[in-house]
Amino acid sequence: METDRRVLVVEDERTIAEAVAVRLRAEGFTVEVAGDGPAAVEAARRTPPDAVVLDVMLPGFDGLEVCRRLQAERPVPILMLTARDDETDLLVGLAVGADDYMVKPFSMRELAARVHALLRRAAKTAAKPAGPPTLRFGDLEINQAERRVLRAGVEAHLTPTEFDLLVHLAAHPRTVLPRERLLADVWGWADASGTRTVDSHIKGLRRKLGPDLIRTVHGVGYALEVER
Ligand code: CA
Repeated sequence: METDRRVLVVEDERTIAEAVAVRLRAEGFTVEVAGDGPAAVEAARRTPPDAVVLDVMLPGFDGLEVCRRLQAERPVPILMLTARDDETDLLVGLAVGADDYMVKPFSMRELAARVHALLRRAAKTAAKPAGPPTLRFGDLEINQAERRVLRAGVEAHLTPTEFDLLVHLAAHPRTVLPRERLLADVWGWADASGTRTVDSHIKGLRRKLGPDLIRTVHGVGYALEVER
């Protein structure tokens, strides 16, 4: 049981917030609920959560702003809840730094599975041995020990998921990796229902590292285009 794991649930619809909290508590998590943007930021500051379930439409300021503020203070895995598919598309396009998206209505079983996957990945990242090699491709430098990335000597501030995705692409330079495989390897998902999550993080990497670094192979996946 993951009794020491804290999940912050940010949702203004009380019935949904309660149902999510009940399910996550049954999974062994410690759950705190916040009903609006400012309360969410305040709660995360008071007791840093291990993961956040975050509704997009909130009073105060919205889930995008909550996501930005939380990630700016301390990287934390975030699962965003959206009302519609096109809302997910919009968020994916903005590359706000959420790790995963779910469209309402969703099953509580699926939600619990996604939260477990986020935390497994975060634990795997934290457990990586110190001192793995620094990867260098042309003007791109990936320092795995410090989890820092520089392009042409300028540091890019990546989210933990963006960093893991970049390292994964860099492990197979100039090889096209299917989105489904990236989803399985980086996010730890067995099914391919979340490939837009991959697109979102690729957009984030391009915005932060330049548009030329990652090539899209339409209908297939992505490749890191670098000199060896
Ligand atoms: Ca809402």
